[in-house]
Amino acid sequence: MNPKLLVIFEESYRALRPRAPMPHLAVEFYPFANVNNNIRMREGKLFVRLSDVLEGAPENVLQAIAHILLAKMYRKPIEREHATRFRRYVSTRSIRDKAALLRQIRGRKRIDSAQGCAYDLEAIFDELNTRFFHGLLARPRMTWSRVHARNRLGHYDPAHNAIVVSRVFDDFRVPRYAVEYIVYHEMLHLKHPVKLRGSRRCVHSGEFQAEEKLFPRFEEAKAMLKRL
Ligand SMILES: [Zn+2]
Repeated sequence: MNPKLLVIFEESYRALRPRAPMPHLAVEFYPFANVNNNIRMREGKLFVRLSDVLEGAPENVLQAIAHILLAKMYRKPIEREHATRFRRYVSTRSIRDKAALLRQIRGRKRIDSAQGCAYDLEAIFDELNTRFFHGLLARPRMTWSRVHARNRLGHYDPAHNAIVVSRVFDDFRVPRYAVEYIVYHEMLHLKHPVKLRGSRRCVHSGEFQAEEKLFPRFEEAKAMLKRL
């Protein structure tokens, strides 16, 4: 284990929980196929895996991801400064190129139809995960629908843990940001599971809707999809 990395996580933990006892921490770089990062608690011990794409990252970027992961674990708000620093770093050209290369080398062979004629849904999911979710969402099965359904843009199917996007949009005439918006919306369903309010199911909660508006071309994408 990288001792410097451990110190960064310990310091971040201390800042977040000044009085709580320091848990046993294990932090390692891991050869994920994307810029994934995860944290788990098992028997009171914290296990952290960081994408090995971050191995050469400057200390303040590692501090940022330490904060993000620990804040997520302990349900504390993620500080904007850390979120921004991490996002800037992973969206730099060299990191994006590296991630794309790893995806090619390490990505599993796909038997389903994530790769359409125009767009690769897995690649879109991974990019959005890095840009908007700190790489924290586990990727479900991504698939284009079998039929050209127009009534539904896309949906998340929890029974099969799959995001399905209507094949109508697998077309170069459909701009990429419109497909990204559909996938982004379904990713929010992953992040915000359906809540029960009394006997009513709340599918698009206020929190969900606020986060949806963070998509950079939200209005434009919605208008575009309406036209198609
Ligand atoms: Zn929805």
